[in-house]
Amino acid sequence: MPNSDWLARSRAAVWHPCTQMKRHETLPLVPIARGEGAWLYDFDGRRYLDAVSSWWVNLFGHCNPRINAAVADQLGKLEHVMLAGFTHEPAVRLSERLAQVAPAGLGHCFYASDGASAVEIALKMSAHYWLNRDKPGKTGFISLQNSYHGETLGALSVTDMALFRGAYGALLKHNATVASPDWRNAAQGECARDFALRCADLLEAHLQHHHDSLAAFIVEPLVQGATGMAMYHPVYLQRARALCDRYEVHLIADEIAVGIGRTGTMFACEQPDFLCLSKGISGGYLPLSVVMCTDNIYQAFYDDEVARGFLHSHSYSGNPLACRAALATLDIFAQDDVLNANRGKAAYFNRVSAPLREHIRVQNFRHTGMIWAFEVDSPHGDFARRCFSLALEQELLLRPIGKTVYFMPPYIICHEEMDLLVARTLGIVELLT
Ligand SMILES: *Cc1c(COP(=O)(O)O)cnc(C)c1O
Repeated sequence: MPNSDWLARSRAAVWHPCTQMKRHETLPLVPIARGEGAWLYDFDGRRYLDAVSSWWVNLFGHCNPRINAAVADQLGKLEHVMLAGFTHEPAVRLSERLAQVAPAGLGHCFYASDGASAVEIALKMSAHYWLNRDKPGKTGFISLQNSYHGETLGALSVTDMALFRGAYGALLKHNATVASPDWRNAAQGECARDFALRCADLLEAHLQHHHDSLAAFIVEPLVQGATGMAMYHPVYLQRARALCDRYEVHLIADEIAVGIGRTGTMFACEQPDFLCLSKGISGGYLPLSVVMCTDNIYQAFYDDEVARGFLHSHSYSGNPLACRAALATLDIFAQDDVLNANRGKAAYFNRVSAPLREHIRVQNFRHTGMIWAFEVDSPHGDFARRCFSLALEQELLLRPIGKTVYFMPPYIICHEEMDLLVARTLGIVELLT
């Protein structure tokens, strides 16, 4: 390994995200030298198939030539300019392109740099909307059980995961949760659709009692990612839309993980009031997020009075390099008919993953678009850690959540790579059960 002295210092200098650092006394950090397509390479020529798209951001592979070219072109023109008082072509073109592909009516784009900030923006905009509409009491939010919407304080207050909230309870505004339509919780003999409808009834009961104090219902459409790829029937979202209309509560679709083609369509939710995007939007290249909203929302802020405006800002809002990466990403969707190609890839993967699905120790094998997940009935309490390490030995980047193994590969994954992913994951499951 060339010049490995920096690696030895890494653990002291860099405090890694979502990590108990002490674990790295025994678990070595994986140094990555370069990436190409679905693969990451270390300095010794070892390679890892990026089966989780580097935390769900990478859509078209590492060092994609088309995205590289767009970012390089933009680098020669303008790297950044503040977006208050100034504008630039990449931000305007991206906003127009997003409005074309997003659900009808979402015509206004507000930019930030990461997913949690997009959630903060949607929550603030929603409450501020009701204030501007002379309903100042509507300041509460609801989310699904086991929801994940990011880890800044506002986003964490609508996140229902003890692991992330535990130490910070005293800092968080209290928001209620409603039953998740995650079909693994259906009663015996109850189908996913019936269970989703039953959960929608519970949502209605909550809205009936509390709508006067509620600004918005925030939801991860179709797949609750961070809790372990919980999947549910789309009828829940249809019902939620109708109920939010009836009770005058905004519907915020947090599509930070599932947007940009992940569930098989460009977006997972059909008619939200707010749509939050990040992760894949820049193809996994640069930090970028956006909240899209309806004209009705936008108009409530449009006024002679400054304080009725939405005064929120981030230094790197609408960064031109990130916008160009996003435009190149959307170009690839159009040029390569990606949604259609992904349907073929998903069908292939569903076929070749049959031995996993049918494995005696594999439970709840499930699939939505380009996401697959299952639980492993393993006796090992530290399953996730063991699986991660064994996967590295097998040239795979897997990052199980508890006993849930999931695949969220880049869309450029090919048949041979899918075969390899299934065969080697099977081997790992055998070793851990
Ligand atoms: C990742 C994620 C976020 C937070 O995005 P960050 O960029 O990590 O802050 C919010 N919501 C969902 C559904 C996510 O998957």
